[in-house]
Formats: sequence, C-alpha cells, structure tokens
Amino acid sequence: MQRATKIVATLGPASTDAETIDRLVVAGIDIVRLNFSHGSLDDHRQRLERLHEASRKHGRTIAVMADLQGPKIRIGKFAGSKIVLKPGQRFILDAECTLGDSERVGLDYPELVDDVVPGDILLLDDGRIVMEVQSVQDAEIHCVVRQGGELSNNKGINKQGGGLSAPALTPKDMEDIQNAAMLQVDYVAVSFPKSGADLRLARKLLGKAGSQALVIAKIERREAIDNLDDILNACDGVMVARGDLAVEVGDAAVPALQKKIIRQARAMNKFAITATQMMESMIHSPVPTRAEVSDVANAVLDGTDAVMLSGETAAGEYPVATVQAMARICYEAEKSMDPAALDRHFLDLVFTRIDQSIAMAALFIAHHLKVKAIAALTQTGSTALWISRLSCNVPIYALTNDIRTRYKVSVYRGVYPLMTRYQGHDRDEQLFEAEEELIRAGAVEVGDLIVITCGEPIGQPGGTNTLKIVRVGEHRPA
Ligand code: PGA
Ligand code: MN
Repeated sequence: MQRATKIVATLGPASTDAETIDRLVVAGIDIVRLNFSHGSLDDHRQRLERLHEASRKHGRTIAVMADLQGPKIRIGKFAGSKIVLKPGQRFILDAECTLGDSERVGLDYPELVDDVVPGDILLLDDGRIVMEVQSVQDAEIHCVVRQGGELSNNKGINKQGGGLSAPALTPKDMEDIQNAAMLQVDYVAVSFPKSGADLRLARKLLGKAGSQALVIAKIERREAIDNLDDILNACDGVMVARGDLAVEVGDAAVPALQKKIIRQARAMNKFAITATQMMESMIHSPVPTRAEVSDVANAVLDGTDAVMLSGETAAGEYPVATVQAMARICYEAEKSMDPAALDRHFLDLVFTRIDQSIAMAALFIAHHLKVKAIAALTQTGSTALWISRLSCNVPIYALTNDIRTRYKVSVYRGVYPLMTRYQGHDRDEQLFEAEEELIRAGAVEVGDLIVITCGEPIGQPGGTNTLKIVRVGEHRPA
C-alpha cells in the first residue's frame, strides 16, 4: 500500500536551497505551494528550477500551486517596530498615518473605514489582539482594546463575522495571475473569495494569460461558508484555510466546518486541501505534538485529498522531518479506514453521467474482485477524479499522454499519474502499452487482476464509456 493523501509543502526561505528541495522531494511532497504574499518573482522562479531538477532526478511528478495574496488587510509600521497594548486603552487605526506609535497606526486598506460601525470587533495578528470599534471619524477608526499584548509591524486585521467589502482579486493579484501563467503553475489558489464570481474572474484572467491552471477557492471568509455551493460550482477544488477562517467564524466552529466543506466538495466532484497549523510546533521542534498527529490523521479520516504545510516547510527549522512525519501519519490513518463503508455508500448513489457510471462501476468491481489497481486512461483526468471521490483502498493510476493532466491529477487522493507514450488508434495496442507502463512503474506484476477504464473511440476527451477487467500479461496484441 502506498500513501493516498497528498502533501502540499510551501517553499520559503527555509526551503530555497537545492539540497533541502531535493530532500523534500525524496521525503514525498506531491505539490509545492508558492506563497505570493512573500518573496519576489525571482525567488519563486529559482525554487521552481531547483524543484524541476530534483523531480527529474528522482522521477517524481510534483505539481505547483501559486497562492495569491488576496485582500489581506494589514496595519502599517511603527516607529519602534512594535508597541504594547493594554486592555481598556484607546487606539486609532488611521488610514492616513504613515508611521505608527502607541496611539495610532496606519492601514493598507483605507476602505476599512466604510466597512465598520461602532460595536464591531476587529481581530489583529490572527486574533491575538482584540479591539472594539467606538466610532469612525473620517479616515480614523477609534477603538478600545479588549485584549491587549504586543503588536508589531504589518500584522493582519480581520473583522469578526465577516462583511468586508474588499474584492478577492487586488491589482497585485491580477499581476500575479500573469506571473503564475508565466511560471506555468498547475493550480492557482484565490484568497478570500466571497462567491463563485471571484473564481470565474480568476479563471478568465488565467485563460487570457494562456494558462489552464486549476482554480482553488480558499474558504476563509464568513461569506464563503454562506455561498459554498456557488463557490464549489465555480472552482476545481477548495482549501480549508483554517487560519483566517478561524478568526472570522470563531476557532471552535472550524472543525465541524472542515468536515462539512470536505464532504460537500467531494460530493460535487471537487478536491479539498486542509491547511494551516497542521504541524505548527515542528517549526521549532523535531517532533509533532500529539494534538497535531491527531489533527492530520483526522483530516485524512474526514476525506481530505491533501494536507498542507505552511510555515513548517517555508520558514521552519525541520522542513524535511515535518514532511516525513506527516507522510507517516497519513499512511497510518488511511490503513485504519474501513473499506466496507464503500459498499454501504453505493446503495445511496445516483448516477447521472456515463463517465461517472463507469467510474463507480470500476470502484465497485475493484472492491469486490480485490484487484491490484485501477487504470484510468484519461485525457483530462476527469475519470480519475470521479473514481477518487469515493474512498477505496485500490490505487488509481491516471494514464495520460497530456503532460498537463499528469500534474492536474497529482492532488487527487489515491490517484497516481503515469505518462503513456501511446499515440495510435488501436485499442488492443493501447491497453497493452498501458499494462507495460504499469509494470514499468512497479504498480502491477504479470498475473495481477486490474480494472481499466477508457473511451471509445480512442482519444476523445471526456468520453470514458468502457470498462475492462484484465489479467496483466494474458493477452499480447498480434
Ligand atoms: P494564508 O491562507 O496562509 O495565505 O493566510 C491560509 C489560511 O488562512 O489558513
Ligand atoms: Mn488566509
């Protein structure tokens, strides 16, 4: 058995050198995340060059995600780089202030003054500092500190309960969409989308820039929860972005929301990534806490496609050990899952599409005949996605001759991309070539039973309509 849950690792200052990137590849990362909130375009390009070198060397397919900064609202800088706030004291967020002091600080989003009214709660630095709005006077938001502490330069601000008017794509994001297209990334994550329209706009801009990257919606706003269906319809996958989400909806609401978002994403044929603070203590510790081990395992049990590392690999002291620990936890959690649950699930399924029906049939057969692998011959990867929306302990190999599809399917749980060199139109030869590819990859041996899905006629995208059960090596085309 191999690990089915995929690992996303953010590259940053702690993972820029070629040696660390090489070790991350060996440790088993499946997707790298370039965080466009930090670093220059050249930094990202350099990391990608090193990644491509390492993945070539180790024969791995590792996809790339660009994560847009989005309208994250931040305070400005302080004259002494930080201040200490006491509960009960007054403090002003002043859109016109250039250098802050103990009484006031600047804001990089002047429109905030139009989005707040007296009584609103503002959370700074991921909720470490809490302020209540007393009044709004021109460009100044007058607050009373409810929870004090140290406040330093450029910390983020969230409004409890959501309701900020900022559009999801800022001018910087639109420029970064061009950059992401230029870097040929496979996925683009949109930060703080409020509705499907934000994602449709991102996809349109990507298309104009010549990119077919998959669009990921980061669920981190109150409004995104209210509009989850609309968002899921417009995106290819979601990220449970627990950092900002916890601040907007309250931390205690997040675990149940995580389950709901993952369940709904899978039901609507989308993938889900669970993110933020999964192995946070490993930024400074060589081992995770018990709570972190449980958190990663529970995300796997919730059905997430991938688990994500942020600061742990971008700025931590133990980036490689973190990936190793995460891989181990995912693997164990998957082993514990009950495949019989799949059978019960089948009873409630309603099929509406031909390719979906083939996918479900492949799963059902794989489960009952105890086949070694499912091989989906796919142009777009959609059959592999359908099959992977239900839990099954059988590996799904997506065989494609489209290089982009190979990276697209990297994030799907239990799906492993393989290139097929076959370009002709002979069905027997195509299936034989697929068998050979599976053997070369070490996925199957002669004599193993496998299920193959494909489309008739050959080579038409989205046309999977055929299922074949094959004993590897039994038939060789004349
Ligand atoms: P971020 O998104 O790390 O870009 O803020 C993830 C989150 O909010 O959890
Ligand atoms: Mn966020």
